[in-house]
Parts: sequence; structure tokens; C-alpha cells
Amino acid sequence: MIINIAHLYGNLLNTYGDLGNIMALRYELRKMGHDANIDIISLGDEFDPDKYDFVFLGGGQDYEQRIVQKDLLNKKDQLKQYIDNNGVMLSICGGYQLLGKYYYDANNNKIEGIELFDHYTVNQDNNQRFTGNIKVKSSIIDDQIYTGFENHGGVTYLGEGEEPFAYVLEGNGNNGEDKSEGFRYKNTIGTYLHGPLLAKNENLAKELAKKIIWRKENEGK
Ligand code: GLN
Repeated sequence: MIINIAHLYGNLLNTYGDLGNIMALRYELRKMGHDANIDIISLGDEFDPDKYDFVFLGGGQDYEQRIVQKDLLNKKDQLKQYIDNNGVMLSICGGYQLLGKYYYDANNNKIEGIELFDHYTVNQDNNQRFTGNIKVKSSIIDDQIYTGFENHGGVTYLGEGEEPFAYVLEGNGNNGEDKSEGFRYKNTIGTYLHGPLLAKNENLAKELAKKIIWRKENEGK
């Protein structure tokens, strides 16, 4: 099969080698006998929720996040349809922030999120950042441990009922207070883990590849 991947705003949101997630996933898909077609869906482009088997939204600087936010609003309904239909999606850092209610950037300007989810993000006092290696434990597969790299000024709080992607063992994660890291809903993950996450954590890449193939084979995708 050919697996269709949408790299949302791949020309604008791609910090700390986030593109490596797509490369690692394609590597696993190929080992499972499937190739991938990768489309960059950016400003003004249509996002067709029925075409794609994997959607990736990477991290970015405040400047790019602001540009993307306006356009992402135009794709909100299609993205919601994709996510509710069990589409597999990974969003990292700035991308994860934009799926929530809002984000306060380093200059304390509010950037509205697209409010697909209830988490919200404020900034840290004196523009401090959470920077460094991070280790988490996630219930996605048997409480496995994943490692990554975080670098964010944003401090994120999950909405009521929002489930974290993982719990922090070392590092800061969402806010440095409640040990939560990222969020998960159906087959969608949001996380602060750069790394790139799927290159550093092959088990997770394999799991996403298996979910993608299963969905395409079983849900007529
Ligand atoms: N600009 C955001 C922050 O600092 C996101 C950073 C990123 O995506 N690496 O919180």
C-alpha cells in the first residue's frame, strides 16, 4: 500500500529536526512492506481528511506559530473530522500548543489556538524556558519509557478530562508541576518531545506504523 502522509506546514513548523519523525515512520512502514507519499500541506492548501493516513504537525518559533494559527483555523473542521475518525496524528511542541485554546508567546502576546482540545499554554516568568533531555513513561504501549529533548517557553495545562500522553520521569513536560506530558485522544498525540521522538523511540514509531496500516486496511481507508 501507499501510505499518505500530510506534513502540515512542513515549510514553517520544523524545529530541532522534527522532520525526522516522518523519516523514522517511513523507515518502519517500508520494513512492513509499505511505501509512503508525503505532501506538505501549508498556507492556503486544502487538507483532505479522507486522503491521509498520518498527519504530522511540528514545533515552531513564535513568529511562525502566529502565521500558521490563522491558516490552521481554516482547516479546523477537516482536522476535527480526521481526528474523530481515528486518524493517526502526531503534533509536537508549538503544533501541540496550537491545537489547544491559546498560547502566550515570549512577548506575552496571546495567540489563539484552534480549540480542538481544551489545553492552554501560558509563558514562564522572565522568559525562562524548559530546555534539556526528558524521559517519560507512557501508557500508549505497556508503560514504555520514551526519551526526547524539550525546549519550550510555554507552560501547558490540560483541560478537564484531557489525558496526558505520558508522565514525566526526568525533565519538565507540560508545566514542570503536575508531571503530565503532552496529551492523547483516540489516535492523536501531542507532546513536547523533540528528538526527533520517533527516531529516538523505535517502539513508538512501530506502534504508530501498525495503527496506520490497521486503520487503512480495516476502515476502508
Ligand atoms: N514557541 C513555543 C514555545 O517556546 C514552541 C517552541 C517549539 O515548538 N520548539 O513554547
